[in-house]
Amino acid sequence: MDITKVCDDITELDQDTQAAVAEFMRICKEKGLPIRIFETYRPQARQDYLYAQGRTRPGNKVTWTLNSFHTTRRAFDVIHKDLLWNAPESFWNAIAEVGKSVGLNSGYYWNKQDKPHFQLDKGKKPIIKGADEMAKATEKEKGYGKMAIENLVKNKIINSPESHLADLDGYMPSWKVWVILNNIYEALKGDK
Ligand SMILES: [Zn+2]
Repeated sequence: MDITKVCDDITELDQDTQAAVAEFMRICKEKGLPIRIFETYRPQARQDYLYAQGRTRPGNKVTWTLNSFHTTRRAFDVIHKDLLWNAPESFWNAIAEVGKSVGLNSGYYWNKQDKPHFQLDKGKKPIIKGADEMAKATEKEKGYGKMAIENLVKNKIINSPESHLADLDGYMPSWKVWVILNNIYEALKGDK
């Protein structure tokens, strides 16, 4: 890998950070913020190379640390799509707010401001809109499946429900199958 080259590949980030970037990009698009993901993963050799700039190598200092979240695959830098680093303050502020809403630590708020920088701190999970709602719906759906299985057991249509109940966790639509079976049973039982 060429340490002088910037890597802007999102898939080089870890799973949680990829999810955070995806949500970050979705919201930026929704808000009409023209962003460009400039840099994602940075091998330690590249971090060392950048650190040397303005120190043992000519140029302006571009980083103050050897321990960057970029090297742990949990950081990415964002710039304005057209204005690059010369974007107005309102742009940097707006994207920082988006980052915060997604659970990212935005360099915009740091004492040593790093406006393009976003990182998912250690142990943090991204906040994805709608994810909680989906989890709730799934719990609710599993509840319907459980009620259906219990009713079928009670009426001796099936026995040993353990594996069926375990299925509700692993196989998402399985709850529907049990609800349908139970509905059929309930509809037919009067006919006997
Ligand atoms: Zn950065």
